[in-house]
Amino acid sequence: MTTKKATPVPAKKGTVVEQSYNPFETAQAQFDRIASMLGLDGPTRDLLRNPIREYHFSIPIRMDRGGIQIFRGFRVQHNDARGPCKGGIRFHPLETIDTIRALAMWMTWKCSVVDIPLGGAKGGIVCDPHNLSLNEIEQLCRGWVRQIARDVGPCLDVPAPDVMTNPQDMLWMLDEYEKIHGGRYPGFITGKPISIGGSLGRKEATGYMVVLTIREALKELNLKPENTTASIQGFGNVAQYAVELYHKIGGTVISVSSWDPTDNKTFCCRKLSGILFDELKSISDPFGTINRKKAQDMGYEILPGEAWLEQDVDVLIPAAVENQISADTVPRINRRVKLIAEGANGPTTPEGDLMLDKRGTFLIPDILCNAGGVTCSYFEQVQGNMNYYWDEKEVFDKLDAKMTSAFHAVREVSKRQKLPNRDAAYVLAVNRVARACKDRGWC
Ligand code: NAD
Repeated sequence: MTTKKATPVPAKKGTVVEQSYNPFETAQAQFDRIASMLGLDGPTRDLLRNPIREYHFSIPIRMDRGGIQIFRGFRVQHNDARGPCKGGIRFHPLETIDTIRALAMWMTWKCSVVDIPLGGAKGGIVCDPHNLSLNEIEQLCRGWVRQIARDVGPCLDVPAPDVMTNPQDMLWMLDEYEKIHGGRYPGFITGKPISIGGSLGRKEATGYMVVLTIREALKELNLKPENTTASIQGFGNVAQYAVELYHKIGGTVISVSSWDPTDNKTFCCRKLSGILFDELKSISDPFGTINRKKAQDMGYEILPGEAWLEQDVDVLIPAAVENQISADTVPRINRRVKLIAEGANGPTTPEGDLMLDKRGTFLIPDILCNAGGVTCSYFEQVQGNMNYYWDEKEVFDKLDAKMTSAFHAVREVSKRQKLPNRDAAYVLAVNRVARACKDRGWC
């Protein structure tokens, strides 16, 4: 695989197009910078800039309307030197193997930066669950597991939910895995329903912990949350809980955005006095698509999808998809924005990063900012292994401790080595993984 420079492709305003940048090239470019900075030797670089294993497969589904349709599925295991691989499964019509490769690599660094004993993986199926019945989604979940059941498991690779997958999907996957292997293996998957081995706090964990890192950053910026406003891209799992906690700590979210698959358009819902979370949630589907017409009737301004990053706010929270903050879009970010908290994975391209760094914007990088999800998944594994479950307070206290400590470890490296936060997080993370590979004698 090469590291040729990613080529941006202009997008038609407001519509979702194929990836303009290749996220795997972004992930490799980020790694290469740090590998040079750390002086990693050739074999270590070669090992870490590529996945250790990957699986591509076809999943035949008997459709409700009759006939069979074949769906493409993937699982990429980037590195497992520090422990079993861990990473979500996405259902998305624009999923590509390179997105999954990038996400798997980012999972390795994410687990390492928060110092949990896991490696990185990611999986997906190219599909749009909006257009599938529950029966078809169940078949897809079970079909994905049947293809990969021998290469994943509690001590090998532990999947979890991600974009457009949910606890019910995880339960179907667990059930299929247990049928194949004969027995109960709650450690096979995380993000399960609470009633069947899930952890309290998992659904809130990513969004809440995004806000917790914002809380720590605002202290450094000498800003009180109650005097700040934010604009968010997305209104799915991460974005919704980020809105909820941001409001609880006193801040005001003035806009969120969403993707409507019926016309493939993104749009932004804005209320300058602050969006009302319950109101917008009540008109959203389970995949985070807000009903545009109802939002308008409720008094929201409907703006083009890209407007989320042009708002006059203190904080931007990308919480949808990759490559949103780039050389093309940074000039449109309001100069008042002081902080960008990456709820999504890979929302900023390397060129975007350089421009934000020049502007002096405080950026909380994805591998730190959204690591609350995998940390809570790790807690779910720990509780499952003990077969003893913590109450919500214990889960959130432990999450808070882990995330706060990781945030300050990154800031310490950033200040000591005069590095942007993303580089500092990578230095911490890549060093730990490279050390584990060396100690095992892999490179
Ligand atoms: P989700 O499917 O629940 O929500 C995604 C949201 O983004 C929806 O509101 C959707 O309408 C919107 N969206 C989808 N495509 C879009 C596009 N092209 N442009 C603008 N908006 C679009 O997903 P989620 O779980 O909230 O994940 C969001 C991001 O956070 C992803 O990058 C994911 O990898 C990352 N993440 C999620 C978790 C987690 O625990 N769910 C953990 C870590 C990172």
